[in-house]
Amino acid sequence: MDKRVALIECKNYDEKIVEESIHRLLAQFGGAKELAGGKKVLIKPNLLMAREPRDFTTTHPSVVKALVREFMNAGCEVTIADSCGGMYTTQILKKLYSVTGMAKVAEETGATLNYDTSDVEMEYASGKRISKVPIIKPVHDAEFIVSVAKLKTHGFAYYTGAVKNLFGVIPGLTKPMFHAKFPEKEEFCEMIVDLCQLVSPDFSVIDGVVGMQGKGPSGGTAKEAGLLLGGVNPHAVDLAGIRVMGFKSEDVPTIYDAQERGLIPKTPYELEYLGDDPKMHELYFIPASSKVPGFLIRLVPEKFRRLIGCLVTPYPQIHEKKCVGCGACARTCPMHTIEIVEGKAKIDYSQCVKCYCCHELCPPKAIGFKRIVKK
Ligand code: SF4
Ligand code: SF4
Repeated sequence: MDKRVALIECKNYDEKIVEESIHRLLAQFGGAKELAGGKKVLIKPNLLMAREPRDFTTTHPSVVKALVREFMNAGCEVTIADSCGGMYTTQILKKLYSVTGMAKVAEETGATLNYDTSDVEMEYASGKRISKVPIIKPVHDAEFIVSVAKLKTHGFAYYTGAVKNLFGVIPGLTKPMFHAKFPEKEEFCEMIVDLCQLVSPDFSVIDGVVGMQGKGPSGGTAKEAGLLLGGVNPHAVDLAGIRVMGFKSEDVPTIYDAQERGLIPKTPYELEYLGDDPKMHELYFIPASSKVPGFLIRLVPEKFRRLIGCLVTPYPQIHEKKCVGCGACARTCPMHTIEIVEGKAKIDYSQCVKCYCCHELCPPKAIGFKRIVKK
């Protein structure tokens, strides 16, 4: 078990400041050359959707740029790749890279942007929830994978960091199928931990310069944390991430499951911190929604969890005035339970599994939450 996590102060996204912080972060692990010298490096940022960096939904381009430079200076060939929510096509990727600032990073550094939309099925015999899963090809082909996440709350998974970021290696509209297959957050998050073990990123970084609190991962508000986190063990990096946010392990199913599997210690205080003193980075992030506390859910037998979830967990709610009828929610809904009627989205709650994919991908943030009792 690698317990090392570097916490490095990074006050803002000024390129010079980010470059120095990233250099300091990698230096805690021997530097880019020691880590990956001469290899084919894949950088996997969180590009959830085509949002500009100022929205704090996606990994900031200056963090990606600094990492690209470090690995290129170490003689690596660097590719940037992700499959955002919704469809995975060349056209969509072009817009995604342009809006999120990745196209500019590639232009200024010489890194390659992935436009290969094929995938490869990978097997994971010892998976708890999955035994095989399709993975986007550049991730499969890479010799050294870097997960570059954003420090955010998450309406469904509670928290998203280095491990949840890897859901983006599943191509396009295959992702909602996994939501449909694992509608309960505990099962879904165990699947994410399987995926992380299968992909096995070699290094993980979290952009916590400005994270997101409240209705994450796309509808929340900015939260300045002023730091970067990094390490070899993605679960350890996430455990440090939730310490920064003031969250408990038992509320974050990906962390809880990693602890059960013996991949990380039971508390963030047992990690080995490099760089800054973690006490200087302890903050409070407002959670995404008031769901049932994780420890209470786990006291309930698995077959009754869905019933408890139905009663307590809120449903997505369309704010009609903000809805522009773009249909992004309907296209991503794994249960096909959203229709566009007279230019507005309508949800048929009888089929909704509360995966919140619609909430995540709504461009004008027109989807909130509400508690309803289904008839
Ligand atoms: S709710 Fe959002 S994603 Fe759905 S149609 Fe309206 S604006 Fe588009
Ligand atoms: S309506 Fe939204 S929350 Fe419900 S299943 Fe569809 S995408 Fe998921």
